[in-house]
Amino acid sequence: SHDRETRGFQAEVSRLLHLMVHSLYSNREIFLRELISNASDACDKLRFQALDDDSLMEGEGEPWIRLSVDPDAGTLTIADNGIGMNREEVVENLGTIARSGTEKFLASLTGDRQKDAQLIGQFGVGFYSAFIVADRVEVFSRRAGEAADQGVHWESDGKGEFTVETVEREQRGTAVVLHLRDDAKEFADEHKVRAVVRQYSDHVAFPIRMAKSAEGADGEDQDKETEWETLNSATALWQRSRQDISDEEYQNFYRHLSHDFQDALTWSHNQVEGNLEYTSLLYVPARAPFDLYHREANRGLKLYVQRVFIMDEAEQFLPLYLRFIKGVIDAPNLPLNVSRELLQDHGPVRKIRAALTKRVLQMLKKLGNDDDKYATFWSQFGEVLKEGIGEDPDNREAIAALLRFPSTENAAPGAVSLDQYLERAGEGQDKIYYLLADNLEAARHSPHLEVFRKKGIEVLLLTGRVDEWMVNYLEEYQGKKLVNAARGQLDMDDREEADKAEQQDNPLIGRLTETLGERVAEVRPTGRLVESPACLVLGEDELGPQMRMMLEAAGQ
Ligand code: ADP
Ligand code: MG
Repeated sequence: SHDRETRGFQAEVSRLLHLMVHSLYSNREIFLRELISNASDACDKLRFQALDDDSLMEGEGEPWIRLSVDPDAGTLTIADNGIGMNREEVVENLGTIARSGTEKFLASLTGDRQKDAQLIGQFGVGFYSAFIVADRVEVFSRRAGEAADQGVHWESDGKGEFTVETVEREQRGTAVVLHLRDDAKEFADEHKVRAVVRQYSDHVAFPIRMAKSAEGADGEDQDKETEWETLNSATALWQRSRQDISDEEYQNFYRHLSHDFQDALTWSHNQVEGNLEYTSLLYVPARAPFDLYHREANRGLKLYVQRVFIMDEAEQFLPLYLRFIKGVIDAPNLPLNVSRELLQDHGPVRKIRAALTKRVLQMLKKLGNDDDKYATFWSQFGEVLKEGIGEDPDNREAIAALLRFPSTENAAPGAVSLDQYLERAGEGQDKIYYLLADNLEAARHSPHLEVFRKKGIEVLLLTGRVDEWMVNYLEEYQGKKLVNAARGQLDMDDREEADKAEQQDNPLIGRLTETLGERVAEVRPTGRLVESPACLVLGEDELGPQMRMMLEAAGQ
């Protein structure tokens, strides 16, 4: 037609497409999960926008998702009657990657297929996964509320260009038609598709229907003669009761939410009644996203009000240091037109946030009973959790209980909890000793440890990036003070020996004081050292080396 145009994909899209087709092959079934998830998002959006403008429903009842195959043509069609897209939206959404961080994402690819495949999944480049199984993809769409002559037809072979044209389209919503590659024709088989949908998408909150007989490939006129069979239970998973949900269903829902390929480590599902009614389903992933430390990274929960999807990434329900948690919150008493601004300082939201924070900390405490899983958790998210010691004074003790450090007793990275430390220390010791260092090697060879070794006292070795910052906020745990093993007038000093040394009126001290001059505050004899002749100690109120480096890096 006259308004048909051919355009090139944004350069990053071409790179991603290439990468995806070549690296995701062993996981290729995920394309169906991604396309169904887009259809489900589109239904969510329609329902949400229809709250303000009923006419968008166009007199049609509930949203649906429909699948149909045509074995002769070798096609699979995924259609929905959701919000749809107009021409500009199609170009914008299916031709570019309008996300911040794309460059960083591409830069973080390793070239290792397995790993890159996982990154792609996390990044959620959902739609393009169609090209894993299709060598030609067509999209037909019409935005809800627009006229039938405002339909759009998009088409591409995924090799660098796509075409768009305006077409007639009665049916609101979107149909994605996959022209399957020769080696992916199995997805034109009803049984295969049904099996995959059951595996990946049973929890989708809208009915997913499968055509019982072939019909028009563009998703139009489907409802006239076609008989439909519903494949899923189509209830929001979090609304079902815990006893009725299998672990596998929880894990499937997690993958749907997070685009993760791996299972979650654990989850917590709670339905809270009363004044502050809400349902939450929170997951701990097994792996940190590549953008855990990016300011603009995705975080927050998926927010629903009475099962109506309201927004992604509602950040107000958890503190920043728990930003790795994925999940859903359904708060039926929030107004349906709630905005991010309103969430910001809404009393009930603050209360839910406090409750969810406690929930997550409890969930992590419980995870601590499983050494292997906790080690995974700690290696991925330990450094982030430490931020909570400074940020969340109300829960400091509970967060401190989750911390793990290497120590002079066990130098494995996540080896020792403060509770274990205290247990080993016994009643007699009223302090928790730690040593700050850049790395374990340096820590273990520190002369500051000599006296502790001599006395058989365990010292925690703090080598994490934020450890020095953190211990500033962690003055005590279980009533026992945390003490820096490298600081000034340690009561560990063996007074007797120190006094002996002092009484000798050592001429060496005078010479050292003179030679070192301004560079040190004081030179004094000590009973602290066993093997080393001398060591540097920090004054009681001095900044440690890590802090100094952090402040310098921040330009202070
Ligand atoms: P994501 O879903 O993470 O945003 P995708 O690559 O899966 O990324 O989809 C890109 C965008 O294309 C979506 O954000 C949405 O705006 C649009 N889109 C994709 N599929 C549909 C659909 N079935 N209906 C409406 N819009 C869609
Ligand atoms: Mg998607």
